[in-house]
Amino acid sequence: MKDSILVINCGSSSLKFAILANAGQETLVEGIADRLGTDESSITFKFKGQKSEVSLEDGSHKNAVNQIKIWLSSHPIIERSLAGIGHRVVHGGETFSKSVLIDQDVIAGIKQCSQFAPLHNPAHVKGIEVAFELFPGLPQVAVFDTAFHQTLAPEQYLYPIPMHFYREHHFRKYGFHGTSYRYISQRLAHIAKGSDQQGVLVAHLGNGASTCAINQGKSSDTSMGITPLEGLMMGTRSGSLDPSLLSFISQAENISFESALDILNKQSGLLGVSEISNDCRTLEEAMESGDQRAKLALDMFAARTAKHLASVATTLISIDHLVFTGGIGENSSYLRQAICNHLKALNIRIDSEVNDNAPRGETLNISAKDSHTNVWIIPTNEELMIALDTISLIQH
Ligand code: AMP
Repeated sequence: MKDSILVINCGSSSLKFAILANAGQETLVEGIADRLGTDESSITFKFKGQKSEVSLEDGSHKNAVNQIKIWLSSHPIIERSLAGIGHRVVHGGETFSKSVLIDQDVIAGIKQCSQFAPLHNPAHVKGIEVAFELFPGLPQVAVFDTAFHQTLAPEQYLYPIPMHFYREHHFRKYGFHGTSYRYISQRLAHIAKGSDQQGVLVAHLGNGASTCAINQGKSSDTSMGITPLEGLMMGTRSGSLDPSLLSFISQAENISFESALDILNKQSGLLGVSEISNDCRTLEEAMESGDQRAKLALDMFAARTAKHLASVATTLISIDHLVFTGGIGENSSYLRQAICNHLKALNIRIDSEVNDNAPRGETLNISAKDSHTNVWIIPTNEELMIALDTISLIQH
């Protein structure tokens, strides 16, 4: 039966993929092509618990997709089951408010949105074009990180700068992690009946991190902006700060505005403050062995996350649920506790024991009995969302 979907997340130097079967419920094979564009690139396949690696001679995206095709030709049952390809696309601008079947107009639209995601969107286009070339018979679908936030009201998405920047250049808040938030909203509606008619806060905390308020199933505010730099402190990104700092940093270091922005994107956040690592797990280990810089970085991360949860909550009628997701949200009991400690004024409380003993990879309610809000850990699944959107669009 033709019901498998190849999900592709094509970046500038990496290409992640997975083939999902059985309405997205089963991952048949997954892997990643790394260091694309260099002569050290390779692609890894994880199939039935076994890993195999193939080096990519020219390090091109095309070669990476071609290796997937070659792998499929030696697994003909999976090859024959392929019904379509779903691509993750970071920026859909104001053009795309939902997932779409890809044609030449869609490719042109994704290219047009490249001004706001100059590293990501051109890489996605490359992935799409290569996939069309190598899998000519398969329909392809684009799923946008920004699409879920197209429901924001103008008073939330506009920046308070002269309006002509919006009119002429579309400078506004777009928000990201939308595929994850949509998944969480739907999953929560399954386990907490009626939550799609309530107010939900979500903290998607990974290397990139953001918060989102979801009112009756629709995004009403989110912390990321025109790019993923706004909002929370992240692995290497500063998040929101006084924009004047950009000119102070470029003057102090005698560097260009772009280089100063690069510092805010790549050398700040957990890495910049701890001066150790951008990785939460590494920092928790350092903190446990007494490193004060690691503790400060983690505590700042918690304080700023709480602040941005409270901020987006101003668009909700009530805060009925708070969900933690992403690598940090799902796994760091320290940060979940530290974040909720800052939210006591909102009557959000978690049960420390349940939080500390949360089993990995499972959905769990961690609220304390006296909490006014249900607090959850829900593992996100963006690949599943992409596969389901692809199935639904190619069936029409
Ligand atoms: P993501 O970008 O969603 O893959 O999340 C990556 C982040 O999750 C990194 O900062 C990891 O250190 C963090 N993370 C993953 N597992 C754990 C864990 N067991 N404890 C703390 N942080 C974790």
